[in-house]
Amino acid sequence: MATGNAIRGTRVGSGPVRWAERGEQAPRRSVAYWCANGHLTQPAFAAEIEPPDTWDCPRCGLPAGQNEQAPPERPRAEPYKTHLAYVKERRTDADGEAILQEALARLRQRTGR
Ligand SMILES: [Zn+2]
Repeated sequence: MATGNAIRGTRVGSGPVRWAERGEQAPRRSVAYWCANGHLTQPAFAAEIEPPDTWDCPRCGLPAGQNEQAPPERPRAEPYKTHLAYVKERRTDADGEAILQEALARLRQRTGR
């Protein structure tokens, strides 16, 4: 019953390996995406997959869209805001001025002696 074994050995059904093998012949289409920096990336999708509206630019990480004339907006940097940015945001300009004047006054006092 060597034939039966061979059939079972081909792993009828789906699996990652099987899918990759099929990918060689499966119809594919590459979709062009442009990011706000004008980078073009053309990932290929299997024809039966609906390409996403946006794709992360592999060069700068910005979201890229399929419309070259209207790439997606740069995302607001909020998730990546540094501690310094938070501090700056909390303090108003007036506060910053007051802190600066205070520091200058202290500096003058010290050097004046
Ligand atoms: Zn880019």
